[in-house]
Amino acid sequence: MLQGQIPIDEYKTGNTKHTWNLKKLRFAHRVLFDYNYKKQEVQKGYANRTLYIDLSKKEIKEKKVTEEMKNKFTGGRGFGLKLLWDSITSETRWDSVENNLVITTGPLCGITQYPGTGKSLCLTVSPATNIICDCNVGGFVGPYLKFAGFDALEIQGKAKDDVIIFIDGENGKITVEIAPLEETNTHLLTEQLTYMYASEDNDRSRQKVAVVTSGKGAEHSWWGCLNFSFYDIRRKVARVKQAGRGGLGTVFRDKRIKAIVVKVEKVHGLLNNPADPETLVKVGTKLHREIRDLDKYQCNMRAVGTGHLVEIMDAYDLLPCENYRFGSFPKAPKIYSTKFYELFTKIIPDGCWFGCTMACSKTVDGYMVKTGPYKGQKVTVDGPEYETIAACSNMSIWDPLWILEYNFYCDTYGIDTISTGTALAFYMEMYEYGILNKNRCDGLELCFGNAEAVLEFIHKIARGEKGEFINVASKGIRRVKDWLIEKGWGDEKLIEDTGMESKGLEYSEYVTKESLAMQGGYGLTLKGPQHDEAWLIFMDMVNNAIPTFEDKAEALHYFPMWRTWFGLNGLCKLPWNDIEPANNAETDEPTKVPEHVQNYVELFNAVTGKKVDKKELILQSERCYNWQRAMNVWMGRGRRKDDWIPYRSMGPVTEMEYISRKDRYDKQLIEKQGFNKEQIDKMSVKEKMKILYDYRQDQYQKLADAVYYRRGWTPNGVPTPQKMRQLGMDDPRMLKMLQEKIDEDEKAGLNVWGGKYGKGEKPPSIHPRYWEKW
Ligand code: SF4
Repeated sequence: MLQGQIPIDEYKTGNTKHTWNLKKLRFAHRVLFDYNYKKQEVQKGYANRTLYIDLSKKEIKEKKVTEEMKNKFTGGRGFGLKLLWDSITSETRWDSVENNLVITTGPLCGITQYPGTGKSLCLTVSPATNIICDCNVGGFVGPYLKFAGFDALEIQGKAKDDVIIFIDGENGKITVEIAPLEETNTHLLTEQLTYMYASEDNDRSRQKVAVVTSGKGAEHSWWGCLNFSFYDIRRKVARVKQAGRGGLGTVFRDKRIKAIVVKVEKVHGLLNNPADPETLVKVGTKLHREIRDLDKYQCNMRAVGTGHLVEIMDAYDLLPCENYRFGSFPKAPKIYSTKFYELFTKIIPDGCWFGCTMACSKTVDGYMVKTGPYKGQKVTVDGPEYETIAACSNMSIWDPLWILEYNFYCDTYGIDTISTGTALAFYMEMYEYGILNKNRCDGLELCFGNAEAVLEFIHKIARGEKGEFINVASKGIRRVKDWLIEKGWGDEKLIEDTGMESKGLEYSEYVTKESLAMQGGYGLTLKGPQHDEAWLIFMDMVNNAIPTFEDKAEALHYFPMWRTWFGLNGLCKLPWNDIEPANNAETDEPTKVPEHVQNYVELFNAVTGKKVDKKELILQSERCYNWQRAMNVWMGRGRRKDDWIPYRSMGPVTEMEYISRKDRYDKQLIEKQGFNKEQIDKMSVKEKMKILYDYRQDQYQKLADAVYYRRGWTPNGVPTPQKMRQLGMDDPRMLKMLQEKIDEDEKAGLNVWGGKYGKGEKPPSIHPRYWEKW
């Protein structure tokens, strides 16, 4: 047992017990429509069919998964993209009736022999960005969906009343049921449904039920998240993981889905019917040993989860504080992982799917709620994870208990801790400058550090209050920027530079000012600034391992492709590089963790029976990555202008920020821009900031040039038909669309490089329309 761990028999959650009249709740259900299907086994990782539900037309059908679909789209996120391409139009918006909410698995999803293999992928048209948002989430739903018989679930249309979609893998039946009496908020609804749909009144039966929910906050904001449950048999609590980004929960509630419930007949490690189970055990055992022996010397995830990053980010000036103005803060040690370790219940395994020895899904049980409708009740708080803690440091909240309160309510109301925190940090900065005030904020005093106001803001959203500020603020930073500018409140440039969104999505929680590659990692992404595509800060800023634009472009090609691969297969990325073999540093490419990449090659082959190598894994991703970018172009948001990022993520916006890191910035003006010390000393802070501003903006444009070229796109960021054909993606409708967009750009004079290339510098290619020569 770990130090401080409590034996299971002695463990009591201490949570407030509820007594539900489940019979009454269930009795009020009315079956709207249903469908019987033939149960069949998963073969080599694929169920070989997907499930389609139209809530408006009351239609349920199965769709076949073809070999061509597997070869081109692999699974998971790839399947989701293909299903969306076939079902929406370029004009589809988040609340269009034809918007399609897709939950997919992947061929490796649901194996239990290797850590991190239970992820679902969720995709839809996002309210925040108006393009496809994809999210990777743990919990039991993805594996259970596959074991119930489907590689993906698509939901189009909208119900008139709140419904529960029940996928009964035990009996081969789907029902869509009106469910009026259950709760809406996650922690209660998940518990009700887990108990209600379990075949028997015991923990083993409850473990075979998995639920997707959202909450009241998702109904009244554009930050809605989806909560995916997993019944924790030790704690006897139905816990949740979040598909947080981009407002998927908002789409879920707009469709009037109260919950999706999936039940399976059995759970064991061979339900995928892998081609070569022995190899799975062999490769898995090796990694389990590594984690057991090395985690405590590396990330210590088994003890503190992803929260271990807080102290590292603080030490390297990367922890977002006060809306990313600073990367460290004197009060930060109050929220280091040691503080949360004291609060976590010390029980393992803490995996969000069977067999995950990384066990990073920590909880605080018996947390006494301080505010809102559940004040005084004791609950289990899932987390907090790094992003949630750092969203709070961004709002200058340094009390672990308020962080738990924030975490709990965001989860149960079904709103994203990241977008909410990043947006509030921006509103707080606007409040500090007087651009917002108590009157303009519907009575809230949104000063940095005011945790009570933060919680009240969240409660107001969940209550559906209609104040002007709440209405716009709950739609995120982009809409608040437009609102402030339209009102004429504050300087437009300051507002644009400090509101941390790109493509309409709020930033996740890293300061990127000193890492150009990471700026690209946020800006040159498909769904918006989320670090799951690339996390290059250490490689770039700390180790200076990718000094040239070409080096950075190579990293911004390889890592997004590699990380995309996890989403195609239903995997968690953490066991790839949050644990490393003891000799990893001695390998040729330690940042890629080559031994673990080879593990994935072996796993893929062992499950699917194919014979691929590591190059083919990247190609699998490249196909889907380019496809998704092409869909962004199709939907009007996939060009250079859409990859722009606010200046706060490139450098200091305010004099205070410059002065706080004056030595660093002065040094760069000397070393990178050829000024001497005397010149620097004579300049005002404003003058120096202007020089830095122009320089860093140009650097970003040059980075975009290099990345577009490396990815095989035009200088305006459009994937070329030639590149698509090379990848074997020859859908005529898509190729025609891309050619038309490229021709439009040509006419508008947009097929040109963005950087200013001076003496001794050159753009990635001097040939216009270079891609036509491929
Ligand atoms: S590493 Fe953590 S998030 Fe990933 S599967 Fe394991 S427990 Fe879940």
